Amino acid sequence: MEIAVFSAKPYDREFLNAANTTHHHRLHYFDVPLDIETVGLAAGYGAVCVFVNDRADAGVLQALLRGGAKLVALRCTGFNNVDLKAAQDLGIKVVRVVDYSPNSVAEHAVALMMAINRKIQRAGNRTRDFNFSLDGLMGFDLCGKTVAVIGTGKIGRVFTKIMLGFGCNVIGYDKFPSPEFEVLGARYARPKEIGESADIISLHCPLTPQTYHIIDADTLSRAKPGALLINTSRGGLIDTEAVIDALRSGQLGGLAIDVYEQEADVFFRDLSGTIVTDDVLQRLVTFPNVIVTGHQAFLTREAVTTICETTLQSVTDFETGNALSNEIRAS
Ligand code: NAD
Repeated sequence: MEIAVFSAKPYDREFLNAANTTHHHRLHYFDVPLDIETVGLAAGYGAVCVFVNDRADAGVLQALLRGGAKLVALRCTGFNNVDLKAAQDLGIKVVRVVDYSPNSVAEHAVALMMAINRKIQRAGNRTRDFNFSLDGLMGFDLCGKTVAVIGTGKIGRVFTKIMLGFGCNVIGYDKFPSPEFEVLGARYARPKEIGESADIISLHCPLTPQTYHIIDADTLSRAKPGALLINTSRGGLIDTEAVIDALRSGQLGGLAIDVYEQEADVFFRDLSGTIVTDDVLQRLVTFPNVIVTGHQAFLTREAVTTICETTLQSVTDFETGNALSNEIRAS
């Protein structure tokens, strides 16, 4: 099948080409993200392959259909950037990668948490200058601390297992609680208890209208003073301005994020030679107790291999009329 691959980075090309040796699709790579300005590039392709910040809203989907596309294949888990209702009305199928490596994201969340608690970025910056002073680098033991996991699905549960291994008490919140979480040795708690007792809060739920700004001024005011907040899920879960206020007042002890509300305008490109006009991001990165990575939690060899194989298998299934096991529909 002819596939237009948007937001294509060198690693996408390498791993999609490798996976395609068994599928034999014709892959055409475009560096630019899919949006209303670039959708014309997809004319003549039966499928488009997109990533987290490509925008498949109703207007884009209509243009895709006019160009002949009948399939949107997301090479990611989250699908908040696709208007599923519009796709369904237009008869465009949407597939995603439900299951790749929850370890990749959970392990990155742990890396961020460790880095912010033990001030690894600050320490690394110092020692590059042969500054071996320890002032300001004190962290806390994880063993015995309470970690709250918001969203106890695949990634949340791997994160839970790792935290239990550190000797933490893990409490969770999920709209749809699962026994698998409790079997690990963790337990569910109400938001009030989470606020009062969590030393670390890690977000692992999807971005939906219900979870948009799940962390806002109100939840932050009820958090344990000095708590750490980790977000590897989606930027929109956090009201970034409110988080900045909480960091400034000391109510929040640290923030480690792999995702950012306005990331579509800045992430996945090298802006080091330009003036970034996003004042919120500018302010965030100046805090000594903030770490930002650029949506790289998925970026392990194992995860990207599975993502590319699953994506191309879905396209093959679509082409051959097989059932689409990774299809997502409007609820
Ligand atoms: P999952 O579907 O297995 O788990 C999500 C969990 O969130 C489910 O248990 C679900 O019941 C719960 N949930 C849904 N609505 C909720 C609500 N209102 N409040 C609390 N919990 C709610 O998904 P997953 O594979 O664990 O992925 C979780 C998220 O991680 C994805 O939605 C995606 O946004 C993000 N993600 C980020 C990266 C990255 O590179 N940073 C990579 C993959 C996934």
